[in-house]
Amino acid sequence: MKPLLIDAHQDLAWNMHTFGRDYTRPVAETRRLEAATLTPQRNGDTLLGWDAYQHGRVALIFATLYVSPARRALGEWDMEAYRDMEQARARYRAQAESYLRLTDTHPSRFRLLRTRADLHSHISAWRAADLETPNLPVGLTMLMEGAEGVRSPSELPEWWELGVRTIGPAWAGTRFCGGTREPGPLTDDGRALLAGMAEIGFTLDISHMDRIAVLQALDSYDGHIIATHANAAALLPGTESNRHLTDDVIDGLLERDGIIGIVPFNRFLKNGWLPANGRQEVPLDLVAAQIDYICQRAGDALHVGIGSDFDGGFGVQETPHGIDTIADLHQLTDLLQARGYTQQDTAAILGENWLRHLENALEGA
Ligand SMILES: [Zn+2]
Repeated sequence: MKPLLIDAHQDLAWNMHTFGRDYTRPVAETRRLEAATLTPQRNGDTLLGWDAYQHGRVALIFATLYVSPARRALGEWDMEAYRDMEQARARYRAQAESYLRLTDTHPSRFRLLRTRADLHSHISAWRAADLETPNLPVGLTMLMEGAEGVRSPSELPEWWELGVRTIGPAWAGTRFCGGTREPGPLTDDGRALLAGMAEIGFTLDISHMDRIAVLQALDSYDGHIIATHANAAALLPGTESNRHLTDDVIDGLLERDGIIGIVPFNRFLKNGWLPANGRQEVPLDLVAAQIDYICQRAGDALHVGIGSDFDGGFGVQETPHGIDTIADLHQLTDLLQARGYTQQDTAAILGENWLRHLENALEGA
């Protein structure tokens, strides 16, 4: 039996809003419906869908609220963009409401997990389903990526009430801190946000935060800290992007018992890769190498997982050779076992590490 797969990053709501994607559909149906549209050109072919979740035993997803600043919009079609914090707030709220609608309308397909009790009942059902295709609802825990829509820390309880449990203060830079391609430290607003988050019990996602801001947050944040989707910069020689994790950031996260979700996105696995190079240039073993790198620094297999970011601006065309849907990430088990990892290690990496994190992080929920 394949282990449970827990994915710490999928931009489902962004896809639902931008491309009308319906994740209750099978992967092949979404691809067929989109074949004559501009969607494959804009976001590639989907890697996600109901059948792949079941076949891949994807029990739980960190489902994002993701909107971007208008200055970084991908085109006129990219409507999930904001000009100010009022617009950001409205768009983030609309995405959260889409998850509430999805789980209300399709309770047999998707389930919002708010509390530790929700997590327990959800996961025990998945563990008990001793079937290749369990036909169980996929659990969603909400993750806010960017946070510009939080106008003041006094609004944090409202987001908690909606179901958000993890917040990343950056995507691009925000008024809270430097972000991808926009370096900078934590600001006073950022410190106030983090203090408010810790008080309520949010987990901090440092993905996309600039290195300086992360190092400051590692020193000051009282709550749980993770990187839902980020790779080690050391395995991307020549990269100048601040999107990847430097060794001091990795070590700081490990000291704080953090977990890092590795991203199976070709440009984050091989520096300078372009679609024209072909997928053959990027074997899935490069994902295993990223996982192994974190495990070697940690001295165990307990601090790394998967943060696929699937459908988050790229499709199957930009994933490693041999991947067709999320279910194919189970090929990592053999690749890791070839590197000496035990069955217990690979189960931890594919899902159990994120479950342990959620178990701890939802203590007060
Ligand atoms: Zn991201």
